[in-house]
Amino acid sequence: LEQLEPSVQAFLTRTADMALRQADEADARYAAARRDPQAVVPPLLGLPIAVKDLLALEGVRCTCGSKILENFVPPYTATTVRRLLQAGVVVVGKTNTDEFAMGSSTENSAYQLTHNPWDLERVPGGSSGGSAAAVAARMVLAAMGTDTGGSVRQPASFCGVTGIKPTYGRVSRYGLVAYGSSLDTVGVLARSAEDTALVFQHMAGQDDLDATSMDLPVPEYRLEGGDLRGLRVGVPKQYFIQGIQPAVEEAVRAAIRQLELLGAEVREVSLPHTEYALPVYYLLAPAEASANLARYDGVRFSPRPEAENLWDVFFNTRGQGFGPEVKRRIMLGTYALSAGYYDAYYAKAQKVRTLIKRDFETAFEQVDVIAAPIAPTTAFRIGEHTDDPLAMYLEDVFTLPANLAGVPGLAFPVGFDPQGLPVGMQLMGAHFDEATLFRTAHCYQ
Ligand code: GLN
Repeated sequence: LEQLEPSVQAFLTRTADMALRQADEADARYAAARRDPQAVVPPLLGLPIAVKDLLALEGVRCTCGSKILENFVPPYTATTVRRLLQAGVVVVGKTNTDEFAMGSSTENSAYQLTHNPWDLERVPGGSSGGSAAAVAARMVLAAMGTDTGGSVRQPASFCGVTGIKPTYGRVSRYGLVAYGSSLDTVGVLARSAEDTALVFQHMAGQDDLDATSMDLPVPEYRLEGGDLRGLRVGVPKQYFIQGIQPAVEEAVRAAIRQLELLGAEVREVSLPHTEYALPVYYLLAPAEASANLARYDGVRFSPRPEAENLWDVFFNTRGQGFGPEVKRRIMLGTYALSAGYYDAYYAKAQKVRTLIKRDFETAFEQVDVIAAPIAPTTAFRIGEHTDDPLAMYLEDVFTLPANLAGVPGLAFPVGFDPQGLPVGMQLMGAHFDEATLFRTAHCYQ
């Protein structure tokens, strides 16, 4: 980390003192366990991990990549982080993110650019770009990310690592700073499906502090070798569209053939409303964000600027504290929710969301997993899309549907483009069936 961080810039806050203390404790526990055969060794004891700076860790600054939370030190810890700490991990720092997770390249961070370890001139993807880069550079064994519209899977793909976006409701959102509450999930990035499942195992499950978390047992993700006989893999024709880089399509199709060689039965499926996912998401996510971000008014969280009166407190805090992409989303969302437009935009988008969800339900009556590309391109150059928000939004076409439908998605590396940049593929599964995704990727790997 000392060696690589100066060029990768994955971390916003490093917690060396805390990490060394946790590591000493881990050593002590391990030594004690060796003396006492009855003692239980926590399953992740001593594993160094990184946490996206959108998840609260008590006593450690949590900026969400935003100036507005520059000095925010949460007095509590996210359930997911707390569970991993209980399982024994050592947290080495908080990773860079697009401001409030709004972006696909981590360039919307108010603090720094994170560089893709495969090519430092390129973005790591986003918004969990810091986490993906930290894993890819081998600075940590695993990292926590969040995925509202692709923010675990797309950076995993750009950085050549594995990442899980769980079913909505599988994992607690308590202590995750809200972006789009009906879409937000907490995920894990690691080198392999096996490592990802191991960490995920210990953070998933119902939580009294999040009423949307489901009371379902988390299965033991025991990953064994073997083949994929009996597995039905669907390939959605709507995901191989114009604009997808030929190298991406080739790598994904080759990986699908590999699944077939492993015994899976591959067939085409149709997700007919796929083309609406992008407009639906970019109405609903900003609408929810505009409501969630209303709390940053200068009274409770942010450093209070000079102001004559209360209105100025609001205007100055938000005017100075939010970056341009966040302001754009708040304006889009507020507009879509405003009287007279609500039915035309927000309510309509909700209806189309239901159609997208039904597409998946119908498809999962025919197949066990859906295999598809993650992003139309491999990692692009820093600055390439910064002036063109629509081009940036297009990066998300293949990842948004899973969030809208609430189904799980797993990203894993399947090849390289001619420039040597990693290409990923995603597997999507039925609600709460992360296990099949892990198993399939593990067999492939
Ligand atoms: N790129 C998408 C957005 O900007 C998704 C981000 C995310 O999943 N947090 O909203």
